[in-house]
Amino acid sequence: MTSIRYLPETLINQIAAGEVLERPAAAVKELIENALDAGARRIDIDLIEGGKTRIAIADDGHGMSREDLSAALDRHATSKLPDDDLLHVAHLGFRGEALASIAAVARVEMHSRDSGSGESWVIRAQGGQKSEPTPSAHPQGTRIIVDDLFYATPARLKFQKTARVEYAAVKDMVTRIALAYPGTAFRLTHDGEVKLQLSAAAAEERLRALLGRDFLENAMHITAEREGAIVHGYASMPTHHRGSSGAQYLFVNGRAVRDKLLQGSVRAAYMDVLARDRHPVVVLFLSLPSEDVDVNVHPAKAEVRFRDPAMIRGMIISALKAAIHTHGQESARSIAGHTLRAFTPWQAGGRSTGPALPLNRGAQAAVPLRYAHGGFAENTALLFEGLAPIARAEEIEPAAQDFPLGTARAQLHENYILAQTQDGLVIVDQHAAHERLTYERLKAQYALSGVARQGLLSPVIVSMPETQAQELLAHAQDLAKAGLDLEAFGPGAVAVQALPAILGARVDVHRLIEDLVDELAEHERMDGLEERVNAILSRMACHGSVRSGRRMSAEEMNSLLRQMEETPLSGQCNHGRPTFIRLSLKDIERLFGRT
Ligand code: ADP
Ligand code: MG
Repeated sequence: MTSIRYLPETLINQIAAGEVLERPAAAVKELIENALDAGARRIDIDLIEGGKTRIAIADDGHGMSREDLSAALDRHATSKLPDDDLLHVAHLGFRGEALASIAAVARVEMHSRDSGSGESWVIRAQGGQKSEPTPSAHPQGTRIIVDDLFYATPARLKFQKTARVEYAAVKDMVTRIALAYPGTAFRLTHDGEVKLQLSAAAAEERLRALLGRDFLENAMHITAEREGAIVHGYASMPTHHRGSSGAQYLFVNGRAVRDKLLQGSVRAAYMDVLARDRHPVVVLFLSLPSEDVDVNVHPAKAEVRFRDPAMIRGMIISALKAAIHTHGQESARSIAGHTLRAFTPWQAGGRSTGPALPLNRGAQAAVPLRYAHGGFAENTALLFEGLAPIARAEEIEPAAQDFPLGTARAQLHENYILAQTQDGLVIVDQHAAHERLTYERLKAQYALSGVARQGLLSPVIVSMPETQAQELLAHAQDLAKAGLDLEAFGPGAVAVQALPAILGARVDVHRLIEDLVDELAEHERMDGLEERVNAILSRMACHGSVRSGRRMSAEEMNSLLRQMEETPLSGQCNHGRPTFIRLSLKDIERLFGRT
């Protein structure tokens, strides 16, 4: 047996570097944090090959003295814990190991001008060996150049991705940090090309610069306070969503984190209004007393622990939910804008020669009508020919037009309700709308005394693998409260006895049960009971909805519109698709070049 030996310093640093520096983006993060801790108002980041070949970061912060420049490269050497107090961490850094780790695995050159003495010095390190500082002609602040990251740790070197992928990770990191520090100017270049140029700005300005105008136009303002903790920021309306959770920017006391508790809270808040594979865009800043959060959990400081996680979770969920409910009757504001753009294939002003109305074919709703002198009435009649209007304008009482969602005038393509409002028109996706109404009603009934059920004349037998049947039966009690009665029917089948009455008679019981089995399989990922129940109800709602393709009478359509007006969150279906869009008369007039 070999005996225990103490590892050499360089090896210790390389091992530590393995945790602190996963990839170039992690080094960039540490270096930017150092610059911010030094009070920088401007930070320039220059990368070559995604940071694999070179990362150079310059700041205009307070700089370092000759002694500090040398000590900075040592492990566990920091200026940021003056009272040895881990309970009150006031800087982004505090572990004193980033520079030592970087110096252990790369070639480093660091220039700094001490704002106190006005002297500037440069120090070099490579493979964990550092030089003596020598005089330099550095103007202000600190500039650190990191070449050939991981050259000294071949194992890690091998795991680096392509320059493009590493660059993308760096850019995401810079974006995250820059969102939290709008008062600092940032510039990012990659292989000599300027990629980001952000001047010091107000928070909202920075948000717009990084996330785009579209986000702010479709964002709800979030703010809440509870027991000394404050959350503020923006979150996208449910109809504005992405395919990944990458656009969730979460900060705790100014520190960009990827915290499971916070991510889970966001998911839970939106679960009612978004499909599971869709994700909102959120920028949330959480501030709380430093003794209520432990940032010393993770070497890269990406995770935190809260003293009272349930309180934080509750605060974030209710802040987001409150905003979602307030905006529940709206759908994404940019949708009408996109629609309008789709409507205008020819230039306004009538100069261009757009497509003439195809007079010999049945006109499609989306074909723009051009003014043909004298032929307007004729064209209009043609336009409506294929559309089967089911209610004529004169059949509808004029007073009814005061409703927010207007009065139904036609049903198009057996799924879209066209309604006239006082100052424009509304197009409703009847399937999406009905799904939301059904879901909200199921939730309300569930909360009161359980969902009203309708017994089946003869039970429907659904067969499935035995384990699935057992899983389903294990939830029989919950499902019964949700209006679904089922019993075991031999080892690999269940007998469905009753269904939620609200779903109506045309439910495909087999598909409903299949969906619920899938739903239960995903339940492990969900945190709260309410979340689970709602997920079940949401699945059920999909089955009860008026499928697209059903002709509706004027009365039915108007009653759907009135119910939507009374239903919270009716602006989007359970999957975050909008249920209606609104076009104002002004927009329509603009389409026709009247304004
Ligand atoms: P930490 O940031 O946890 O203290 P680092 O290894 O990142 O550990 O840095 C060590 C020390 O070097 C810091 O505490 C700070 O005093 C000094 N330092 C690092 N970067 C800069 C910088 N850009 N400007 C001024 N001082 C710096
Ligand atoms: Mg640091």
